[in-house]
Amino acid sequence: MILAIDGPAASGKGTLGKRLAAHFGLPHLDTGLLYRAVALSLLEAGQDLTDEAAARRAAEGLTATALDDDRLRGRAMGEAASVVAALPPVRAALVEFQRSFAASPGGAVLDGRDIGTVICPEADVKLFVTASPEERARRRARELTMRGEAADEAQILADIRTRDARDSSRATAPLLPAPDARLLDTSNLTVDEVFAAALALIAAARGQHTSP
Ligand code: C5P
Repeated sequence: MILAIDGPAASGKGTLGKRLAAHFGLPHLDTGLLYRAVALSLLEAGQDLTDEAAARRAAEGLTATALDDDRLRGRAMGEAASVVAALPPVRAALVEFQRSFAASPGGAVLDGRDIGTVICPEADVKLFVTASPEERARRRARELTMRGEAADEAQILADIRTRDARDSSRATAPLLPAPDARLLDTSNLTVDEVFAAALALIAAARGQHTSP
């Protein structure tokens, strides 16, 4: 089974993806890490985040081991990632990496922004996970505090709004639910409730696929 989970920053899709992957015994790819790794590679080399040629080279040279770097998970890298993610050559260079992951034997869980629309339009199940910007800012602030990073919730909310706008308005692969995605609003749900709701949506989607 290929399970595509899309949604905006801090909507809960990463936590959900990890848990669903463990539940179904499937490998999980947090595709945001790919864009974060491209951004980190440019910043480390002192290159501009909007330098298309350098960004494409960084994306083409990306390996799975680069995704293990803890620096990728910080707030600044999320912002930087959304800048490089708007560059079409970067997106094109990362398609194959994601599709070959999705082709893992038995399937895979991928979460991101364009998994159901561009990377795996044939996915067996597509979930689009959302939450209000305020709730996402609260969650991100908690997460950063736990990592020992400074967390100004008002600033995080402003970042989230900027990132939503950038991700939704870009010309290539904007953040958008696939027409056949099932929507899951996690604003008022606990992590366990989100997991239970996702399992129900997956069961319904698979039921529909297997019915005559
Ligand atoms: O999900 P995460 O916050 O790690 O993503 C960082 C940025 O990478 C997003 O704001 C988005 O611009 C970009 N991204 C994307 N497509 C994906 C995953 C992430 O454009 N599939």
